[in-house]
Amino acid sequence: MKKLITLVVPAYNEQHNLPKLIQDLAVFFRQLSRYQFECIVVDDGSTDQSREILIELSSAYPWLYYIFLSKNFGKDIAMKAGIDQARGDAVITLDADGQHPISLIPVFIEAWEQGYDIVYAYREVPIESYSFMQRVRSALFYSIASKLTDLHMERGLSDFRLIDRKVAQIVSTFQDKELFLRAVFKWVGFRQKAIPYMPLERLHGHTRYTLRSLIRLSLQGITLFSVKPLNMAIYLGLSISLLSSLYIPYVIWSILYNHPISGWASMIVTIAFFGGLQLMILGIIGIYIGKLFIQSRYQPPYIIQATNIVSSSIPLSSSFTNTLTSK
Ligand code: UDP
Ligand code: MG
Repeated sequence: MKKLITLVVPAYNEQHNLPKLIQDLAVFFRQLSRYQFECIVVDDGSTDQSREILIELSSAYPWLYYIFLSKNFGKDIAMKAGIDQARGDAVITLDADGQHPISLIPVFIEAWEQGYDIVYAYREVPIESYSFMQRVRSALFYSIASKLTDLHMERGLSDFRLIDRKVAQIVSTFQDKELFLRAVFKWVGFRQKAIPYMPLERLHGHTRYTLRSLIRLSLQGITLFSVKPLNMAIYLGLSISLLSSLYIPYVIWSILYNHPISGWASMIVTIAFFGGLQLMILGIIGIYIGKLFIQSRYQPPYIIQATNIVSSSIPLSSSFTNTLTSK
């Protein structure tokens, strides 16, 4: 029997990219007929025509399934929703915007057949072709994240990857409401292989990740995987306390020799500086408490509004099968 490979595609307002992607996949699946393929597109609360297009396409292609989430849950959660429903012996996650070259899929599969459980792609772009802002972005995202989480994350690590069924099943058991899959797949272990690739241009639309959202994402990602920022706060506090004790001899000397200590300006600056520092550290602690709070609430990580997957493992979705309710 042929092995089944499931493609999981998160899509958020990708009405212009989806038809081309699905057509390309159809051609590709015919070429690689040694395997059986299915594709699950997870619509992450799109507000454009993506859903109508998906319903139409899925009637033309029997291997195409869709999951409509009830709102925008974010790419990682959308991918997990797809992985949860995937039945394949291997699962491949891929962007809908055409930036992940389909031609790399046979390379993934070959590595998988050789015994690798996770095969992932990382962008190999010559450093000169990065703009200054892009360099700042990737430095922020990967170097800092790698150092703070102790998970080696290559610069340009992408969400284009193949995972073996057993890895998919493990990830399906996660009930996390905040997910950072790039780090999760580093963390789970198993035999992994990295494959460099040149990203293609986005076909239509533009990226939803701005510098601000990337900073937020790195902060969220780091605090999901490590408490190092808390340790750093302790060391910072300790060093400042030690340093400030150097000031004591000067104070004693001033009292002994009746030398008035002036310095209104330096005092205000110091108070303001340490006020800011304390607030920042409180903020870091706050992030962790916030995560505890969110994770401890009894809410599902995502809600499926409609799907055409009949034998769904999620009871909720089967009762909604083929019912595209109001968006
Ligand atoms: N995406 C999603 N939910 C979101 C944002 C993005 O499902 O909230 C999907 C998007 O449709 C695309 C993929 O995630 O298929 C990557 O998004 P994008 O191209 O904006 O990111 P970039 O390529 O810049 O990392
Ligand atoms: Mg993209």
